[in-house]
Amino acid sequence: MSEQTLTKQADEKFCSSCGAIIKIIAEICPKCGVRNARPTASKNKTTVLLLCLFLGCFGVHRFYVGKTGSGIAQLFTLGGIGIWALIDLVMIITDKFTDANGNTL
Ligand SMILES: [Zn+2]
Repeated sequence: MSEQTLTKQADEKFCSSCGAIIKIIAEICPKCGVRNARPTASKNKTTVLLLCLFLGCFGVHRFYVGKTGSGIAQLFTLGGIGIWALIDLVMIITDKFTDANGNTL
């Protein structure tokens, strides 16, 4: 946990070149025009997809990406009676699912 003096929203990141706050999904920084590399996937998307598909009701895929809190919530609600797990599954397939650090898979 590093202290940030600038307030960065959950859907924002710092430009790797000039340090400006830009959207996480932005590939090119609007401030300096430098292309930002996609955040390095810390977890394997296929693994998360399979975990969600077979063990999604137990929140296993959320534990895997480090989202322990919502993983426990999902475990006790049986993946929101399957609906929450299904939403996660769609998000993983459409590249919207992020790990605990906000990186796309
Ligand atoms: Zn920049």
